[in-house]
Amino acid sequence: MWPAFLFAMQLPVALPPVLEQWKSEIEASTFQRIEIVRIPGDPIPAEDRDVLISYFSKPDFAGSFQRAQAMTFRYERAGKTRSLILLNLPRMQQTQNSPAALISHELGHLWLASLGFIPPVYEPGPRACLGIHIGDMVQHMLLRAESDRRGIDWRPSYARDYQAANDTLRGAPMGAGDNCFRAQRLSLMLDVRTGFEHGAFPGREEYLDALAKQDPQAEAISIELIEELDGKVQLDPNGYAWALERARSALERLLAP
Ligand SMILES: [Zn+2]
Repeated sequence: MWPAFLFAMQLPVALPPVLEQWKSEIEASTFQRIEIVRIPGDPIPAEDRDVLISYFSKPDFAGSFQRAQAMTFRYERAGKTRSLILLNLPRMQQTQNSPAALISHELGHLWLASLGFIPPVYEPGPRACLGIHIGDMVQHMLLRAESDRRGIDWRPSYARDYQAANDTLRGAPMGAGDNCFRAQRLSLMLDVRTGFEHGAFPGREEYLDALAKQDPQAEAISIELIEELDGKVQLDPNGYAWALERARSALERLLAP
């Protein structure tokens, strides 16, 4: 897909004022610009090109990008942090999600990073996906609370995605899958249960049941973890480290041989 990066320039992504505001605040507090790059289509900023090329040449990184609609890419170079939000255009076209819906979620991850709440360090290899999902389990709770505080209406696009995933599963039930899938499903179960109340979208219960059928152990562990974390995931460094540790331990229980 690399040559696609050479496509012509598109209009910049237009953000609603509430997101422009959040983005500017993060940029001001971290003295850096957040680059939004649609792939394929937008040119990659010259200073990020070689780093991104090296990441996209790793199969586990390229694979997780292909499955995602959007991804935050942060790295350090010469003492300077670079923050990019990568949008996966073909996946976005499938889900019909607006860039704003996806960008608001990624801004949440960057906002947490700007406050020092960083996800587990990316370890290349088969455990790469596990670290991502451990971070997501905790970060998603925090960034959803902040999105609500800012009046960002993130629920409709997520409800639509979950509803669509539920409809797909109805036609094609599947098993537990490999460790990456199991970790991703555990994180998803947490997102659906903690992000949406009972009945918040029509397929919520059916979707949770379908996920539980794929991996009954993950359902039990997700409920335990929610009980453990309930009301305790807040913006404080010790609490954040503790919550990450609980998420890691839950995932280890799930994947224990
Ligand atoms: Zn996320």
